[in-house]
Amino acid sequence: MEGYPEKLPAKMKGARPARILVHICCGPCSIIPLKKLLEGQSKVWGFFHNPNIHPYSEFKKRLESVKRLAALLSVDVIYDEAYRPTGFIKGMKRSVSPGSAYPQKDARCRYCYSTRLEETAKAAKANGFDAFSSSLLYSRYQDHGEIRRLGVDLAEKYGIIFYYEDFRTFWQDGVDESKAAGLYRQKYCGCVYSKIERYSPKYKIKKSVTGST
Ligand code: SF4
Repeated sequence: MEGYPEKLPAKMKGARPARILVHICCGPCSIIPLKKLLEGQSKVWGFFHNPNIHPYSEFKKRLESVKRLAALLSVDVIYDEAYRPTGFIKGMKRSVSPGSAYPQKDARCRYCYSTRLEETAKAAKANGFDAFSSSLLYSRYQDHGEIRRLGVDLAEKYGIIFYYEDFRTFWQDGVDESKAAGLYRQKYCGCVYSKIERYSPKYKIKKSVTGST
């Protein structure tokens, strides 16, 4: 698939690492990665880090959904509850679209993935985990190859394993289980631009559904 590294380094394949920190974007996207990793007998912690969700009421709904899931699965989670969407917008525009009024989706999302994955890699390293991963690897609506490529690059940068698995295989299971668990299921990816694209006829790209973060 385009954008994939030809081969993952050997240490990123095979057996699951002993201690892994999983970036959590939302409850519905996290249920499968967390459950699969717990089945593999890894020591699994979550890391909720999504400061760009718009508006604050939506951020709170997603945060509460993750807390509900963590209780259901008995998983420890590090919560980054600081809400700072303007930091994301400023950094993203400076990085990917300094001259344009409206940032293009591909470049914007690449920046978004990289910031969330990098914070996870740093938190994993600082807290003594062997590896990091992300619930973004579950979503059918994200650029899976780009997330994988960024994860591999960050693993090298921080000297920590990026645990890769294509959790999209279990897509329907995740939908069914999140509904059964009564988790909040969002209607757009998260940032202000994704909300505009979901609801404005001018910018509408495609119907965004739950699990799109
Ligand atoms: S659409 Fe989703 S992945 Fe892309 S920038 Fe917005 S929140 Fe991030």
